[in-house]
Amino acid sequence: MRSINRADDIPLVDLRAQHKDLKDHITSTFLEVLESSDFVQGQWVSAFEADFAGATGLRHVVGCDSGTAALILTLVAAGIGRGDEVILPSHTFFATAEAVLAVSATPVFADIDPRTYTLDPAAVEAAITKRTAGVIVVHIYGNPADMDRLTDVVDQYQLLLIEDCAQAHLAEYGDSSVGSIGRAGTFSFYPSKNLGAIGDAGLVASQSDEELIHSVRRLLDHGRLNKYEHDIVGFNYRMDALQAAVLSKKLVFLQEWTSKRRALAAQYDRKLKASGFKVIESYPKGRPVYHLYVVEVSNREEVVSHLRSSGIGCGIHYPVPAHRQPAAAAISSPELKVTDRVASRVLSLPMFPELGFDDVDKICANFLEIARR
Ligand SMILES: *Cc1c(COP(=O)(O)O)cnc(C)c1O
Repeated sequence: MRSINRADDIPLVDLRAQHKDLKDHITSTFLEVLESSDFVQGQWVSAFEADFAGATGLRHVVGCDSGTAALILTLVAAGIGRGDEVILPSHTFFATAEAVLAVSATPVFADIDPRTYTLDPAAVEAAITKRTAGVIVVHIYGNPADMDRLTDVVDQYQLLLIEDCAQAHLAEYGDSSVGSIGRAGTFSFYPSKNLGAIGDAGLVASQSDEELIHSVRRLLDHGRLNKYEHDIVGFNYRMDALQAAVLSKKLVFLQEWTSKRRALAAQYDRKLKASGFKVIESYPKGRPVYHLYVVEVSNREEVVSHLRSSGIGCGIHYPVPAHRQPAAAAISSPELKVTDRVASRVLSLPMFPELGFDDVDKICANFLEIARR
């Protein structure tokens, strides 16, 4: 007999499976960091920065303590603040909008492309005013946005373009890594992201703007010039050495994990697209990394309870778009028809590298018993 509250047989994400395999690898790292007693900034953070730059091809990178801090630091370093408008999708994790609010700038929400779930370049262009200072594009679910058209728009109006790559490590657009196309890219290593720390961590990258990365480096460490001289007001948003050391160890596996995610997504696609369901579509130049596997349904509550009662975990990313959050109530927003519709229909099915292909078959069989398009 199955009890209602027992853990899912197939969870949405299984971090324990990954850490079981890597346990010795990670615990030996703890000892190395402890023996070095180099806990703040220092060798571990520098080493991870070099490793991440090597793995992604991103030229200038700086570690920090979360994906949210990465966004805030980038906005501050680029001089975005009060009176500036920043265009961004509402269909994202709230942190993207929160970072804009945290620097006292004004988020201006734009609608998404229903095929890819990423920012619609035409909607961005329509949202531009004389106060627009920048655009934050989110490669949501690890699916690269329409960077050719977005680059055209930001170039034409001379706007800052930031890529929120929190869900998109190793995703590519054409021959370029995400994060290398805009002025800066921000990454999160929150534990459940494609590359996850054992706590919080983040990173800012830029291909073209070394100055910006220098500014971020100063800002995240109290605006220091040297130990006790501070010429600007900064933050303490430093990357933790222990997280950096663990991330270097895990980074070695990221390409393999990414290939597995792509293979699992292809298996889901084969079953669900054949039955007419709408799944994530990519632009021709986009190489997605499936942070999440998302499918649209019209009877979501029923599907969720059916899957859960079969021991299958699932999630909704995201049920309440940023423009409908109480914390953003003071911000006026245009009608976001696609965002609202998508928020009411999306369902995330289990996706993590240790998931089995037989699990995908079981999940799809259960899903197809009840789901409606
Ligand atoms: C996770 C996430 C963030 C925030 O990252 P943290 O490391 O949790 O602060 C920002 N944007 C998106 C799209 C995310 O998924």
